[in-house]
Amino acid sequence: LFIDQFTTTLPGVRVRFGPGVRHRVAEEMDMLGLSRALILTTPQQAETGAEFAAMLGDRAAGSFARATMHTPTAISEEATTLARDCRADCLLSIGGGSTTGLGKAIALRTDLPQIVIPTTYAGSEATPILGQTEDGHKTTITTPKVQPEVILYDAELVRSLPVGMTVTSALNAMAHAAEGLYAQNRSPLSTLMALEGLRAFRDALPRVQANPDDLQARGETLYAAWLCGTVLGTVGMALHHKLCHTLGGSFDLPHAETHAVILPHAIAYNEQAAARDLAPIAEIFGGATPGQALHAFARRMNAPLALRDLGMAAADLDRAADIATQNPYWNPRPVEARAIRGLLQAAWEGAAPA
Ligand code: NAD
Repeated sequence: LFIDQFTTTLPGVRVRFGPGVRHRVAEEMDMLGLSRALILTTPQQAETGAEFAAMLGDRAAGSFARATMHTPTAISEEATTLARDCRADCLLSIGGGSTTGLGKAIALRTDLPQIVIPTTYAGSEATPILGQTEDGHKTTITTPKVQPEVILYDAELVRSLPVGMTVTSALNAMAHAAEGLYAQNRSPLSTLMALEGLRAFRDALPRVQANPDDLQARGETLYAAWLCGTVLGTVGMALHHKLCHTLGGSFDLPHAETHAVILPHAIAYNEQAAARDLAPIAEIFGGATPGQALHAFARRMNAPLALRDLGMAAADLDRAADIATQNPYWNPRPVEARAIRGLLQAAWEGAAPA
């Protein structure tokens, strides 16, 4: 490995990992001098939130169980008002990227510290990035103000994630690692984390699929998600994430599923321009090319493979290509309208990349 020069900023995040570690929230709060947590969940995970409220007793200042996909600002304002009214001195977010996003949105407005207990593999807990929507328009900001202070990874809470969502969420995480491999501001450390994260998913995901209750395998996938999320939080993303942002934002496609479908095609698009950086993907997943290796892995995992199966209309592909190529951004291979239209066609059909 040839290391020339690099610059990296690592956030001061405290991470605790292990089955049952969710019972340590009170201990973590005490250590930070915090005594009143506002508990955040989606409506679907309100019961889990209630268990935490019971566990925390006096340390639970209130609960807000209306976290929503894409972090609409109206909901964030409402939750921020509640945080102030109940005199919360910290936020406890339990859930996937939507719930973590709500916690970040409140932190942006209040500077309250966040403790996050992730229950998917999306990785938002490990990043200083917040996506918000207002009037259907999605914007993304990056600021240390939204980076969570404490993450508790408890595999016991991920066992309930349905297998289909487990697979798409894992592919969402793997996309952070894959794009991290060619990021302009990558470092030896981000590359180590990316490769280790990809290997851990390769080894553990089939075992979770075979037995979703396998705590050891669930733990390994959470470990992988932490690594991949940390890569997302540390280096810049390119074509894959921009495309998914467009498809999610303008065509309302589901987040994790869209990442799962686009990943092999976006990597195939870049595999010649970033040949040396992406070569390990073909080795890790076994395939002639990195894109084909990822496609084959996704197929083995029964992931969705085609945009048309996610409800995207063929008639929208031209517009998607236009939007995706409107604002220039860095990518290892130039983002060229016709080639992107071709990429989207292949992803729409679900065929393996050439
Ligand atoms: P999600 O948080 O929307 O969760 C999907 C559904 O699954 C919700 O109903 C949730 O309650 C439920 N769920 C979550 N964990 C569960 C479990 N263990 N058992 C049963 N049900 C469970 O989905 P997501 O994919 O984790 O997050 C997607 C959102 O996160 C998107 O809005 C995306 O933009 C954002 N995101 C942001 C970042 C970032 O760094 N800012 C990174 C990744 C994702």
